[in-house]
Amino acid sequence: MTKLQKPKYAYMGGRIVDWDDARIHVASESLIRGISVFEGIKGYWNADETDLGLLALRAHFSRLKRSAQLNEIPFDMEFDGFSEACMSLVRALHAKGSDLWIRPTVYSVQGNWGLDTESDLVITCYQQPKQRPPGIEVGISTWQRPLDNALPARIKSAANYQASRLARIEGRSAGFEDMILLNPMGRVAEATGSCLLMVREDCVFTPPAYEGCLESITVGIVEQLCETLHIPFKRRPVERSELFIADELCLVGTLMEFGHLRRIGHRPMPAEHRLIGRIADEFWAAVRGSRPHPAVELTSVLGGQVGS
Ligand code: PMP
Repeated sequence: MTKLQKPKYAYMGGRIVDWDDARIHVASESLIRGISVFEGIKGYWNADETDLGLLALRAHFSRLKRSAQLNEIPFDMEFDGFSEACMSLVRALHAKGSDLWIRPTVYSVQGNWGLDTESDLVITCYQQPKQRPPGIEVGISTWQRPLDNALPARIKSAANYQASRLARIEGRSAGFEDMILLNPMGRVAEATGSCLLMVREDCVFTPPAYEGCLESITVGIVEQLCETLHIPFKRRPVERSELFIADELCLVGTLMEFGHLRRIGHRPMPAEHRLIGRIADEFWAAVRGSRPHPAVELTSVLGGQVGS
């Protein structure tokens, strides 16, 4: 995990503001009860660095809307306004050749216990390295993802990252870069900020959302890439013990991208990641615009041609 950057600007209150002026009052519900929902969106430069494309902008907006609705935070912005808000910050902060990670957050800035709630869309944006992520070593946490009637995993809310944070602290002390969280039934939910793909007998499996994971946009893309590549893909519960006999394991998500597992607990994973490697190659060719794919929707920032 790299140190948090301090960019020049943020977006708050409907405009670009200096980073140091992006402040929230200590009495706001977003601070005292953790009431905020957010998204993470990647901006990819195309291969010849003539344009930057925001991946799956509309899908992220839809999920942000769903999260706000489930968390009872009023957020009535339309897609065009949201897109323009993201674009304005990206235009102010982009640097040629440096990919971006954009974090739009809807904070509850007024209100108490859900009464008279008012929200504000705040956007921050960070530079990201362009290289593909290396393999990672992952443990299984003693912290769990809660059930849907406690803290629904499909809400991408700050509160949902309490267990993730504790899991990362737990994992760090044991030398792991990330941790897998199980659900109360002892089956695999997801990792701290990404979903799990498991390959067994030439089929890609991933736990469905009802197992306690976020409704991942990257997994949706993977599903469609698998269809193109004629790789069988199935959403079904994944048991803990299956992790130890899997042919390949991979964490996927907007920020994680494709992090294949080199070790799970004390067990090394097979060095070859044949199917995941093919899916990741297809993903990278699409996000860089060299082999567009309809599942990889890129919204152009600079007006050039990126992706499909
Ligand atoms: N699970 C969690 C807990 C996450 O934070 C993320 C990242 N948003 C994911 C899964 C992957 O979701 P997505 O592919 O939409 O980024």
